[in-house]
Amino acid sequence: MKTAVFPGSFDPIHNGHREIVERMLPLFDKLIMAVGVNADKKYLFTTEQRLQWLKEVFGNEPKISIEQYSGLTADFCKKRNAAYLIRGLRNSSDFEFEKAIAQMNRKLGGIETVFVISSPEHAPLSSTILRDIIVNGGSVNDLVPVKITM
Ligand code: ADP
Repeated sequence: MKTAVFPGSFDPIHNGHREIVERMLPLFDKLIMAVGVNADKKYLFTTEQRLQWLKEVFGNEPKISIEQYSGLTADFCKKRNAAYLIRGLRNSSDFEFEKAIAQMNRKLGGIETVFVISSPEHAPLSSTILRDIIVNGGSVNDLVPVKITM
């Protein structure tokens, strides 16, 4: 059974994330969407809210499960018997950042990272930019697959 973990903050989920999941789903038997919970990181939305949105979008897909995790991503993958990690790449900065993490995850846990290049339509999307729009009262309706209210 081929299991992949797609880890992220999903603070909030957006259409770029959804695209990555839809494109990767045919490659795996099981895909775990893993919402990171890091005590040192400040999130705009609660863990429960972030999990709830993922359930709204992917809850009916039998191959997808939705979980929260803390600690090392490689440890979480081992616990779930997942040999693959999925990460999205929007630009060369993503690549530079992700490269070292992927190399470490392979060293730490033998986890293979599968990189997916974002489509040009979704490349400018990031949760950071969305949070800025949201807190300043702008609309993100066209950019996210759920209804987001503060
Ligand atoms: P993290 O805090 O782990 O970066 P994010 O929720 O911001 O969590 O992103 C989760 C994953 O989704 C990362 O691999 C990131 O590169 C990818 N991603 C984010 N935005 C996009 C996008 N617009 N297109 C493709 N992948 C994306």
